[in-house]
Amino acid sequence: MTEIATCPHCRTPAEVPDRFAGGIVNCKKCGRAIEVPGLRDPLWWLLRAGVVAAAVGAGVLVAQRHGAATGAITGAALLAGSWLVSRAL
Ligand SMILES: [Zn+2]
Repeated sequence: MTEIATCPHCRTPAEVPDRFAGGIVNCKKCGRAIEVPGLRDPLWWLLRAGVVAAAVGAGVLVAQRHGAATGAITGAALLAGSWLVSRAL
C-alpha cells in the first residue's frame, strides 16, 4: 500500500511507500521535506515503548539508591533524550 502525500511547498502529489508513513520524505519536484500522514510501523512503536519503559525503569532504580528526586531527574532526562533521538529517526 502507498500513501499519497501532497508537498506543502509546491503542491505536487507524491506517492510514498507505506513504510514512510508518519515520517518525512523529500519532494521529487522541489526537493523539500514532506511530512507523510499516517502511523509508523508497529516495530517503531514497540521500540519507542521499550525505550520509555527502560527510562522509567532506570529512574526507579536510581530513585531506590539515590532518592526520589535524583530518580525523577534521571528518568526525565532519559525520556527527553529518547524523545530527541526519536525526532531524528
Ligand atoms: Zn515540492
